Amino acid sequence: MSLSIRWRLAIGIAVAFIATLAIILLTVHLSLQQALTSDLDARLSRDVDRVLAQVVLAGSLDDPEELQEIVELNSLTTASDSPFITVIRDLRGKVLAAPPGLDTEALDLSPGELETMARGGSFSRDVDLTGGQEFLVRSSALVVGGEVVGVVQTGEATAAATRPIDTLELILILEGVVGGILAIAGAYWLSRGALKPLRDVIDIATEIEASDLDRRISARNRPAEVQRLADTFDAMLERLGGAFQAQRSFLYDVSHELRTPLTALLGNIDVLLMDDRLDQETREQLERMAAEAARLTRLTNNLLYMASADVGREVERRPVDLDVLCLEVYRQTQHLRGDVVVKLGKEDQVTVLGDQDLLKQLILNLVENGVKYVPAGGKVTLSLYQIDKEAQIVVEDNGPGIDPEVLPHIFERFYRGGDHAGGGAKGGIGLGLAIADWIARSHGGRIQVESEVGRGSTFRVTLPVGEEAGGDTSPPSPTSS
Ligand code: ADP
Repeated sequence: MSLSIRWRLAIGIAVAFIATLAIILLTVHLSLQQALTSDLDARLSRDVDRVLAQVVLAGSLDDPEELQEIVELNSLTTASDSPFITVIRDLRGKVLAAPPGLDTEALDLSPGELETMARGGSFSRDVDLTGGQEFLVRSSALVVGGEVVGVVQTGEATAAATRPIDTLELILILEGVVGGILAIAGAYWLSRGALKPLRDVIDIATEIEASDLDRRISARNRPAEVQRLADTFDAMLERLGGAFQAQRSFLYDVSHELRTPLTALLGNIDVLLMDDRLDQETREQLERMAAEAARLTRLTNNLLYMASADVGREVERRPVDLDVLCLEVYRQTQHLRGDVVVKLGKEDQVTVLGDQDLLKQLILNLVENGVKYVPAGGKVTLSLYQIDKEAQIVVEDNGPGIDPEVLPHIFERFYRGGDHAGGGAKGGIGLGLAIADWIARSHGGRIQVESEVGRGSTFRVTLPVGEEAGGDTSPPSPTSS
């Protein structure tokens, strides 16, 4: 998973902070080291002058004891954390006097350096002496009476001189670590506030679903970038909403227009079927055509009702005799399949307030499903009861039943369960129950289903009788995904 903007900001700020600190550290280190080294070098140069004065006072380099005394006077090699040394050599580089115990080999001069000395020059260099200590050693010509007679080497351990640098570095590194942690924490905390407007926009955008494309984020007084994001999103919703509305109107118009020719087609076939002179084969063909035309009419009606729910069409409220409707549906579905029996069960006389076309479609969808899904020899029973102030339409079949995993989804638009999912022999498009559910709810009622795999299903529609009617007209549940 990629890092959140918050963490990126926090890490970015911390890296910038640590990089800045590292540059400061390096600059301080280099300049301080240079200052302290040149200070040390100046001190060594003064030491040379002092030794020189002492040698001049002694008169010559011929008295080894006197030279040794001068060297020891100007050396401190033991029990000190800032030792210094002095070595006196002749012009060929041979050691004339050195502090006792000092390994002078590392201080030996090359022929080129001896030449420099002979010309009266001087130079400094870093030398590692025994014990692993680093010394800065200055070698200078020893001039007595205007003549170069030897070499004086004075050196001092650099550790003591550079100790302030080490201490400063340690302090700066510790400060860097603490500062880095504080920078991450601070940046993380600050970015929370900075990113809040963005999170708000995300939250609102998440809440907006296909069913409420009229909602807008309407961000005001937000940072410019967030404002632009919200405005772009709002503009996109506007366009999407328009496209959806156009699609719904199109579906509504098309299914509405299709109904008239289909009804005419069915009527004409019925008239043809009334002719007694028809031979058997033509009659059977006409009956098949009538069945297909009826199926097409039901599909078109389902599409039309779905579209009218979406465009917010008002549901009619007129007295409807449910028993008459059940009888009509029974007659219409009786011959849907020759190998399935459709039966009328108990039929109370019940009148509800509602839309006749819609209520008929509701019963049709349930009975037609029963007929579609029961195996050959199966049975579908349609009954109507009045229980207190409620009408109950019950459609019962002894078909395959509905899988418990499928059951919660059967009222979703375009959902098709079982083996026939994705289209197939049974030929529905997964709209029947979604429309039936919407019709029941828009009449103030509900649909319940009980089903057992291998034994059959029972769909029970409950509708309020008389003045109680009045319901929820929100569109059928959205498509499952
Ligand atoms: P369709 O019948 O076009 O597939 P429906 O919305 O009418 O769509 O039904 C949704 C799903 O519910 C069907 O695909 C089927 O799996 C299941 N179903 C509905 N009625 C029955 C029934 N009587 N017996 C078994 N399964 C059914």
